[in-house]
Parts: sequence; C-alpha cells; structure tokens
Amino acid sequence: MRFLNIASGSSGNATYIGTEDTHILIDAGISRKRINEGLAKADVTLNDLDAILITHEHIDHISALGVLERTHPVPIYATRGTIEGILSCPMLGDYPKDLFVEIDPDVPFTVGDVSLQAFSISHDAADPVCYRFESGGRKGAIVTDLGMYDSDLADRLLGLDLLMLEANHDKRMLEVGPYPYPLKRRIMGERGHLSNEDAGGFLSRILHDKMNQILLGHLSRENNTRELALLSVMTEIDGADVPYRGNDFPIITARHDQSTEVFEV
Ligand SMILES: [Zn+2]
Ligand SMILES: [Zn+2]
Repeated sequence: MRFLNIASGSSGNATYIGTEDTHILIDAGISRKRINEGLAKADVTLNDLDAILITHEHIDHISALGVLERTHPVPIYATRGTIEGILSCPMLGDYPKDLFVEIDPDVPFTVGDVSLQAFSISHDAADPVCYRFESGGRKGAIVTDLGMYDSDLADRLLGLDLLMLEANHDKRMLEVGPYPYPLKRRIMGERGHLSNEDAGGFLSRILHDKMNQILLGHLSRENNTRELALLSVMTEIDGADVPYRGNDFPIITARHDQSTEVFEV
C-alpha cells in the first residue's frame, strides 16, 4: 500500500493511504486545493476517494471536511464523540450529515481492501483516536495529537512497516518559549502533545527489524525544529535498552507546508 502525508502540524493535517483499488484520506484540516494537489502526487483525485477518516474534532483536522463533502461526498469514519464534535462545528457549513459512519476504538473495520483499527489516545478532544491500517500483509499507523502513551498503545502498534508519530515539541524550547503559561501546561499535559523525547521513548518500544519508514509529525513551529526533532528522537533510541541505533531506520519529518514523497509501505 501507499502512504503520503500532505500536511502535518497545528496549521492543518491531511494524509493519504491507499492501494490500487482503495483510496482513503485521514483528516481534512487543510484547504481542498492543497488536498487535491497532494493527492495528485499519488495520481489520485478527490473523485477517487472512498472514505475520510477523522482522528478528532480539532479544527486543524477537520476544517475542509464541509467543503470536501459538499462536492465529493464520501463516508466519514469517526468515533461517536468526534462525530458530535464535528456536528457542533458551525464553520464547516452545510454538507450531507448522513455520511457519518460511527466506529468504536479497538473494533476492526474495513474500507475496500484496507483493514483498519482505531485506538483511543490521550488528548484534549471528545474521543480522539489514532489509526492502524493494513493491506496485503503490510501495516502502518498514524499516531499524532497525544499527550502521553502507555504500554497498551505500544502493544497495539507492534509489527508496523511504517509509522507516523507525533514529535511535537522540544521540552526546553516549550518551557522557555513565548507561549502563555496555561497553553504550555496544556501542551505538556497528559492530554496535550507528545514531546520529541517521548516520541523517541515510544519508538524505542515498538522498533523491530522490519520497520522500514518512520515519519515524525505535528511538529510545533514555535517550540521545535526539524533538526532538533530528529536528533532528540535518535538520541532517545541510542540511549534506550534496545538492540538498535537511531540511524538504523529511515526517519524523516513531515511538514506543515509541503507534502512528503509517496511511500510504498
Ligand atoms: Zn492537531
Ligand atoms: Zn488536536
């Protein structure tokens, strides 16, 4: 299967996953134009989409949902709490409301030839999830917008070929940076965002010989840099009690302003 992150960060998120026959957008938090341009990299158009999966109702994940569904209506998969959050967001405008498909965390579902599972994550939204996807024996996951991880989540994400994981901030940059104290507390909290250090710690628990692509995502523009995110994550892996070094794996950072290449998972 193929994976393409079109944009990642607090200014907007959208990711494409697909096979020959099935085309899925995960989150729709950038303009339709940018989504369209991103999909073109994978030779896919909005007409080809079979479903949109939403991780949670924060605006950087849903801002284009209304405009997409008005012109290209496809089923919207989300948890009950996320659906209610989306329905109470007036800025999405009018769109067909019968397109929602309610999913439950941990319960597998399929879209075309892609098997999917949502897992609950800790974030300050109604019922946020990350997604694991699998097709043709290949597995990937997208895990952003989480304040902490635990061994249950790590166990659910073993054996992946590709992982996109949040590395939101450098703890020290956030501490001394310009954000007001309540916002700093929110980001650092258990329902906030994952730091570079924690991303490295999480990765160390789920690395295995066949992991062939890691993307760091949802990087803060104020409290992180791409170089620092990569360096911190690799340093954590180097220092962990695992038989790997940080540079044993291809790791890249996803960007807020441009899409990644198309990865064959
Ligand atoms: Zn977000
Ligand atoms: Zn969020």
